[in-house]
Amino acid sequence: SSGCTLLRDPRYNKGLAFTEKERDAHYLRGLLPPAVFNQELQEKRLMHNLRQYEVPLHRYMALMDLQERNERLFYKLLIDNVEELLPVVYTPTVGEACQKYGSIFRRPQGLYISLKEKGKILEVLKNWPEKNIQVIVVTDGERILGLGDLGCQGMGIPVGKLSLYTALGGVRPSSCLPITIDVGTSNEKLLNDEFYIGLRQKRATGKEYAELLDEFMHAVKQNYGEKVLIQFEDFANHNAFDLLAKYSSSHLVFNDDIQGTASVVLAGLLASLKLVGGTLADHTFLFLGAGEAGTGIAELIALEISKQTKAPVEETRKKIWLVDSKGLIVSSRLGSLQHFKKPWAHEHEPVKELVDAVKAIKPTVLIGSSGAGKTFTKEVVETMASLNKKPLILALSNPTSQSECTAEEAYTWSKGQAIFASGSPFDPVEYEGKVFVPGQANNAYIFPGFGLGLIMSGAIRVRDEMLLAASEALAAQVSQENYDKGLIYPPFTDIRKISAHIAAKVAAKAYELGLASHLPQPKDLVKYAESCMYSPGYRNYR
Ligand code: NAP
Ligand code: MN
Repeated sequence: SSGCTLLRDPRYNKGLAFTEKERDAHYLRGLLPPAVFNQELQEKRLMHNLRQYEVPLHRYMALMDLQERNERLFYKLLIDNVEELLPVVYTPTVGEACQKYGSIFRRPQGLYISLKEKGKILEVLKNWPEKNIQVIVVTDGERILGLGDLGCQGMGIPVGKLSLYTALGGVRPSSCLPITIDVGTSNEKLLNDEFYIGLRQKRATGKEYAELLDEFMHAVKQNYGEKVLIQFEDFANHNAFDLLAKYSSSHLVFNDDIQGTASVVLAGLLASLKLVGGTLADHTFLFLGAGEAGTGIAELIALEISKQTKAPVEETRKKIWLVDSKGLIVSSRLGSLQHFKKPWAHEHEPVKELVDAVKAIKPTVLIGSSGAGKTFTKEVVETMASLNKKPLILALSNPTSQSECTAEEAYTWSKGQAIFASGSPFDPVEYEGKVFVPGQANNAYIFPGFGLGLIMSGAIRVRDEMLLAASEALAAQVSQENYDKGLIYPPFTDIRKISAHIAAKVAAKAYELGLASHLPQPKDLVKYAESCMYSPGYRNYR
């Protein structure tokens, strides 16, 4: 093929890293300046350039450009600088990118399936150039991070998540397919924005919505088979729970907002027991926010306690309490509760305010999963600190602006007592001469390794036991050195190794449950996971 084709194809392009020999063999002479750089030097130059941008969104755009220009270099950069670049390709910056997608949009990434394609979804799937798809991340854009309905502009999320599947979990980029299902948006601002890229109509609901989704799910299975992983991402909770329930017995489906969040938070809780003592069953949990994240985490905690104590899950749920926008979820509210909240309606008098719920329930663990920022007030944190020597406070809402409290607030208001982790990253905090390093309960710890485990075992269904296995595998990766700093998650720098360990445990569970189709089972699953992982070093072209 001609040199130009090589340079223009992001999968093959190496830019200045084409060697003299390759330049001769592939008609590249003159198309590149004389210098030959190796990948490390290209990386150094790019990081230098990226750091010049003051505005995070500009870093995001520069990274997207790189992904479209030189895929291997993009992934190499992401892997080698994961702590620095994760906040750019993922929360918080990806949130801003979605909000402004209409104006920063250049080249389409991913597949758009709108109501216009009803009846033709299988054909649309066939338009995608890659045939061998292993993971699909799909959104309908209705609840992007904590930012609400961004309609078609939610595409930034599946694109970002899949780049993490590759960088952190080693899934080949060509096997990843980002999809946005556009059923309209109820976001007036977008509907009135002349640069909006989606369908200009109110969001479809009910039968019209369900039929489009059903056609999509069938088309995916027909086109890619039973072993393609479909990750639901940032659907509003009224659809998310139903879709998961509806398709979990016929498809390999995973909802990261419900299940991935639950698994990563459970891992942090298991690890934190090393710092606060006791077993999970000794703790009392209070959530602010009873949606996908909140009830998903609550249920996985209840399942883990049930697994550890052999008590039925109906019993173990009783030490877990949730507050929603109407107050503490209690049995007198049962008649008007959404179905996913009902298991959490325990006997108690009504309580309206969070701070009063904290005083009444006396939790040892406080978890924010509301999407509502600044809701862990000084009084809430002080009350937690007066009730517990080491209160565990998790402010999970994303992006940073929606965090229930900041790391600094958690540490200073609790006078250094709190063990704190958050959804969006916070810098270390110095309080009275001591440095506190907040952990990040980032879903990116779990889903890439979880997905790899499903793929490498050829799993055909997801089960809760696999989520528990992933949590335990992640918690086991926290070292004494991490604990000494107050961390309940390992540093992201080791994420490829962590993902391999998670993948191995998830795959082992799939084999144990008889849900794995890649037989025989490899002997050393960690080694096998590592051997499956895509690595972005350049290849030689002869
Ligand atoms: P969701 O399904 O919409 O649930 C939000 C819940 O919060 C609902 O129960 C809602 O109450 C409640 N709520 C909203 N505002 C409130 C307020 N001011 N006071 C009390 N309760 C309030 O959303 P989700 O998917 O669970 O996500 C929630 C947040 O968690 C988002 O910001 C998301 O980014 C974050 N998240 C973080 C992670 C992570 O850190 N790893 C993972 C996933 C999600 P009603 O039910 O009464 O409306
Ligand atoms: Mn999400």
